[in-house]
Amino acid sequence: MRRNIVAGNWKSNKSFNDADELITDIAEGLREFDTIDVDVIVCPPFPYLELIGDAAEDVEFFVGAQNVSKFEDGAYTGEVSARMLSSMNIDYCIVGHSERRKYFYETNQDVAEKVNRLLAENIAPIVCVGELLEDREAEKHFEVIRSQVEEGLFHLNENDIQRVIIAYEPVWAIGTGKTATKEQAQEIHAFIRNLLAEKYSDDIAQEISILYGGSCNAKNARDLFAQTDVDGGLIGGAALKSEDFIEIAKSF
Ligand code: PEP
Repeated sequence: MRRNIVAGNWKSNKSFNDADELITDIAEGLREFDTIDVDVIVCPPFPYLELIGDAAEDVEFFVGAQNVSKFEDGAYTGEVSARMLSSMNIDYCIVGHSERRKYFYETNQDVAEKVNRLLAENIAPIVCVGELLEDREAEKHFEVIRSQVEEGLFHLNENDIQRVIIAYEPVWAIGTGKTATKEQAQEIHAFIRNLLAEKYSDDIAQEISILYGGSCNAKNARDLFAQTDVDGGLIGGAALKSEDFIEIAKSF
């Protein structure tokens, strides 16, 4: 079901003690406002999932992982399987983040396989798509997003596609302080929703949350989230500061 969502991607940051402090502050902030209109998701590094899960026991937020293996359990040294995540009651998992695509050579095919593993374990994938600066400059951004969405997701049936969250993250905006304008975000979000409507149906497209990510912060979140097809944000840098993250979660 289409929900307002704010998801924090901690990436490869924080010591265990710093993670503990941050989640304590976030939980404190969340306790003080009614999260009925927004699903808040915290995605820490793997070793801290249990710590964050414990904090979610008495405050209303969800826990997500940042990646998952495309393989099942077995002899894959260093990998974390979807089954392991589900055995820890993880609700969400980011897939296909641009940093994974860039540094770990993840392809749309890998994304599709990871999405399948997650859905089989009842974990909602947060699938990232987004163009590079050179794609936008060459006016290829629609083409790039289309192939990421089609190749990563369009093998899913009508039920499964509705269990997925999509995050539009223009790569030129991630960690750069250069946010997409609200018009640029809305244009691509509407484009993605239209792809979903053409492939599935308008009703189904309306059910899918599409998040914006890329230097989203406490100052620009409200404008971005007010766009018709922007259902919230995937937040990197600003998710590492509890006040900013809470402020963003209040921006609907
Ligand atoms: C991200 O990495 O998903 C992200 C959106 O990062 P930032 O908010 O720091 O641009």
